[in-house]
Amino acid sequence: MSHPRSEQLYARARAVIPGGVNSPVRAFRAVGGTPLFIARGEGQYLIDADGQRYLDFVGSWGPLILGHAHPQVIRAITAAAAQGTTFGAPCAGEVELAERVVAAYPGIEQVRFVSSGTEAVMSAIRLARAATGRDLIVKFSGCYHGHADHLLVAAGSGLATFGRPSSAGVPEPFTACTRVLPLDDEAAFEELLGREGARIAAVIIEPVPANHGLLLQRREFLERVRELTRRHGVLLIFDEVISGFRLARGGAAERLGITPDLATFGKVIGGGLPVGAFAGPRAVMARLAPDGDAYQAGTLSGNPVAMASGIATLDVLVHENGWQRLESLGAAVEAALRPVLARAPFPVHFVRAGSLFWLSLHEAGAPRTAAPLPEAASARYGRLFHALLGQGIYFPPSAYEACFLSLAHREADFEPLARALEHALAAAA
Ligand SMILES: *Cc1c(COP(=O)(O)O)cnc(C)c1O
Repeated sequence: MSHPRSEQLYARARAVIPGGVNSPVRAFRAVGGTPLFIARGEGQYLIDADGQRYLDFVGSWGPLILGHAHPQVIRAITAAAAQGTTFGAPCAGEVELAERVVAAYPGIEQVRFVSSGTEAVMSAIRLARAATGRDLIVKFSGCYHGHADHLLVAAGSGLATFGRPSSAGVPEPFTACTRVLPLDDEAAFEELLGREGARIAAVIIEPVPANHGLLLQRREFLERVRELTRRHGVLLIFDEVISGFRLARGGAAERLGITPDLATFGKVIGGGLPVGAFAGPRAVMARLAPDGDAYQAGTLSGNPVAMASGIATLDVLVHENGWQRLESLGAAVEAALRPVLARAPFPVHFVRAGSLFWLSLHEAGAPRTAAPLPEAASARYGRLFHALLGQGIYFPPSAYEACFLSLAHREADFEPLARALEHALAAAA
């Protein structure tokens, strides 16, 4: 399939935008080829600049839980925009969305809105440090928490390692207060908290890690993390930027029955507009300015148009029994794809949590820790990706990214997906 308009746009983009993109994964580096420039989205479809249509399993990386251009969301955005796009003063939409978040998520009483998931996590960590008077934070290898300096840290091997920046431009001292642990390892966790617990402000985790494929955790591990953080007076932060309002109304916390101290949100909560949020009990949130001494602010925070988009998205999910339908869609895609994967010419494993799924090309099956994929498997994924794209299926352009379903998907979409996947697996072998 040729994409002359995307190619022209990409050439122009590369002249004026580094790498031609405003977020690196969009550049198709992991799979090769030219990124498609998208002209519009319709329900479960993307339409590129050359007018070609794709069944979309990326959903803008999570926000579009209702699909593209959902009429109710677009109406809400349009109506809000007509009243003015930003005031730099409070508006009713902030209260309405905050009330919905507080009612939905276990254990939280207050929420503050920001404009991205990165900002939400950054602010939650500052707040946790203020509330505990401690400096250290713990993250897990393979969990992504946005691109704040102190969180751009790769894992070391074995037990607790000192954080080493995984990006140029992050001075080592900036990550000196970050500890990185492997997922799925209670012993390493217990050892670190035993040693440094009194200096640790917060442990942050994606309860359903979805940024290194889908690394489903054992409940016992997450329960142990909850138990030990509580015992050491460490705040547990669930980064629910992907899982929040996707896996359940109350996110992964509700699904797992484990309540964190603080939670961060993004993606679904803005329904496709830039919104992030962090939330917790009143006693902790009170440390934030203007009531408290932990500073945090944003020119476009609580933006009326973005709030309207988030409210409309959550309302549709509630009224259409969205989370139950997403679960059935997830089960349906699993039923359609499993038989195809069982016949695949190389090992591919289906991993799923609700409306998130991942094709793991790891030989051994579904990993629970952030193991790198062998070169050959990554190359295979690149061929698989392009073979799907050629059949009108848009999968994430990286073997480490999960697929997203939306309420716009239909069970009838999964039969053509299964056929396309069968061909693509043969082509990728
Ligand atoms: C996407 C993501 C972020 C960062 O959100 P942005 O809006 O891209 O800044 C943080 N945490 C998790 C778990 C994410 O998936």
